Amino acid sequence: MKADVIIAGGGQAGATVAITLRQLGYAGSVLILDAGAEPTYERPPLSKEYMAGQRSFERCLIRPQGFWAEQRISLLHSARAVAVDAAARQITLADGRTLGFSKLVWAAGGIPRRLLCPGANLGGVFTLHDKLDADAIIARLPRVQRAVVIGGGYIGLEVAAALVKQGQQVTVLEAQDRVLARVAGEDLSRFIEAEHRAHGVDLRLGAQVAEILGTNGEATGVRLADGSTILADLVIVGIGIVPQAEPLLAAGAAGGNGVEVDEFCETNLPGIYAAGDCARHRNHYADNAWVRLESVQNATDQAITVAHAIAGQPKPYTALPWFWSNQYDLRLQSAGLSIGHDETVIRGDMTQRSFSILYLRQGQVIALDCVNCTKDFVPGKALVASGARFSPILLQDETQPLKALLPA
Ligand SMILES: Cc1cc2nc3c(=O)[nH]c(=O)nc-3n(C[C@H](O)[C@H](O)[C@H](O)COP(=O)(O)OP(=O)(O)OC[C@H]3O[C@@H](n4cnc5c(N)ncnc54)[C@H](O)[C@@H]3O)c2cc1C
Repeated sequence: MKADVIIAGGGQAGATVAITLRQLGYAGSVLILDAGAEPTYERPPLSKEYMAGQRSFERCLIRPQGFWAEQRISLLHSARAVAVDAAARQITLADGRTLGFSKLVWAAGGIPRRLLCPGANLGGVFTLHDKLDADAIIARLPRVQRAVVIGGGYIGLEVAAALVKQGQQVTVLEAQDRVLARVAGEDLSRFIEAEHRAHGVDLRLGAQVAEILGTNGEATGVRLADGSTILADLVIVGIGIVPQAEPLLAAGAAGGNGVEVDEFCETNLPGIYAAGDCARHRNHYADNAWVRLESVQNATDQAITVAHAIAGQPKPYTALPWFWSNQYDLRLQSAGLSIGHDETVIRGDMTQRSFSILYLRQGQVIALDCVNCTKDFVPGKALVASGARFSPILLQDETQPLKALLPA
């Protein structure tokens, strides 16, 4: 079997490559291989509306079931790619089948990082990365009274909020001295921590997990390095992902912590591309440093870049990174990369739970976080993209819409 374009991974990036190829009028054969058994779907609702029982799986699908056949896009499920031969233009599946391609797109995402402590494999210990994980957690909930979430990143905090909404008693354990330390400034971290505590979450910072305790193969609690224990009949581990790219790296692609791609999302193997959580690229908004972003924006925009390159209409990837999260009644929207900021400006009143935090480096707005402040988000993205310098006093002045500050 052979296809003009084979896409390994039918998640956010892989599906978007196929959709965009057809939108661009690409007429060749397109085959998506996916290791999972489900139709292609979006992951963000899994820790939010789907976990809270407010959205059906059908409403998480990237496209309705009939779309793919209508667009002449072939989908092969339970098809894990395990080896790539770049010279022979062949990809091998776990069941031994070999498929030929002219162009290959690697979009295999990542897998959740696992805890390495004793008890990590007990029943009742879950990660949350795919529908199977979400369904297993939801199925257990009727038997759960106390949940422990390990990891105070976005997924851990979102799932904590979803469990609180369902009446669970929730403890969040974060190893660092603040939540969201990898992605947000301290003001936002402290605000989010206070919100979770106000909703009854027992949030512990600097908490080192030593062991998951269990009886008869089932988790009963968590022991911390300081000797304290927390009772739990459900443990959710949200400590990041490991990008999946081994078959491509073994085939000679450059990388480590993901596959390296150029501005057209092509690897160093000609005609072989990568996009999404598994790809590292030099990002304009990070001073051209190598970054690997885990977001719907990045997966989508890199996929669009790949499709343009394959369709013979190349345009480089220059998109501004952005992200969102929902927790309780908070809508968080972030844009840019705040690493290296030397000043922050807060617009609005944090106590009113509607504000924006702008991150500046030498007067240039490099990122912003909006909390229940959608009106600042779109102009704020434009401020970051402009690369212009602004007076912190002007930025702070809420009577002045951010839009008015945009360079003409
Ligand atoms: C619970 C959760 C909540 C999230 N919330 C947000 C959010 O609010 N906002 C946001 O911007 N981002 C969010 N994200 C991140 C976002 O979903 C990812 O960044 C995005 O899905 C990445 O797209 P991708 O295509 O690279 O990977 P994925 O969407 O993970 O797709 C990868 C696909 O590859 C398949 N695969 C893996 N290995 C192989 C193989 N060897 N062969 C074939 N197929 C393979 C997998 O089965 C999977 O379907 C969330 C993620 C999770 C898990």
